[in-house]
Amino acid sequence: MQPLFLKPVFKERIWGGTALQNEFGYEIPTRNTGECWAISAHSNGPSIVENGSFAGMTLDKLWREHPELFGNPKGAVFPLLTKILDANMDLSVQVHPDDSFAMLNENGELGKTECWYIIDCKEDADMIFGHNAASKEELVEQINDGKWDELLRRVKIKPGDFFYVPSGTIHALCEGTLVLETQQSSDTTYRVYDYDRRDAEGNLRDLHLEKAMEVTTVPHKVTVSTPVVKEQGNARITTFVESEFFSVYKWDVSGKSAFSFNNHYLLLSVIKGEGLLFHAGEHYELKKGTHLILPVGFGEFEVDGDCELIVSHT
Ligand code: ZN
Repeated sequence: MQPLFLKPVFKERIWGGTALQNEFGYEIPTRNTGECWAISAHSNGPSIVENGSFAGMTLDKLWREHPELFGNPKGAVFPLLTKILDANMDLSVQVHPDDSFAMLNENGELGKTECWYIIDCKEDADMIFGHNAASKEELVEQINDGKWDELLRRVKIKPGDFFYVPSGTIHALCEGTLVLETQQSSDTTYRVYDYDRRDAEGNLRDLHLEKAMEVTTVPHKVTVSTPVVKEQGNARITTFVESEFFSVYKWDVSGKSAFSFNNHYLLLSVIKGEGLLFHAGEHYELKKGTHLILPVGFGEFEVDGDCELIVSHT
């Protein structure tokens, strides 16, 4: 049994930049690269296994043809998607549906609950997280009247912050933010407001106001994440969230650290530093920007080095 190292897929976005190259050393397709789909089985950009006997296979195919690696799951699709986002400019204000709305209205897609670990951001950065409308009528009225400053709730962010963003939450990353996103495997976004921006051809991007207003949670529910930190030998484990969709942790490794996992498959993303993963007499290189999955039954392993990883499982 081997770890599955994955080759990311990159997406051009009008709000993207070059941080994915500058910070992570990725070869990006354009100077407006907004998203790295790092661990993805979504049909809009599946990652490819880079090593071992499954090399060259996409993650969705692996999920279908080798369910034993994932504990013979019931779900038809690989449920998670890990991305790194370079918000070089403000993203459009948006909201995502939950599972039942997406199932009915988006050809059986999953809903999209997501969460963000702020890898880096400019000083005094903020983001849009929720709204101030007390009722659906007020929400509709303020959207129709374009009262964005009144409606949208802004929160300050700093590197190391974590935000849980349930489906139905109006949100937007703002300029100068580099984020690791763990989300349900879904690509359904309802755009609420795009700052009246025009693309190179002078076109406005589509808005999806009807659906957005339908799925938005009113009033906004404030979700505060209180990370729980636990020392485990040379590793510090921070638990950010354990929800019905995913659990997300940060491992800060400084020196040889032992781990053992059998019941879950784990998604690992190295966001800082480097190290080695030792398992069953083999060792594997971990460096900033590396993404991998440890299959169910992987068992005991060690990580040695100086690195930070974001780790998730269902
Ligand atoms: Zn989103």
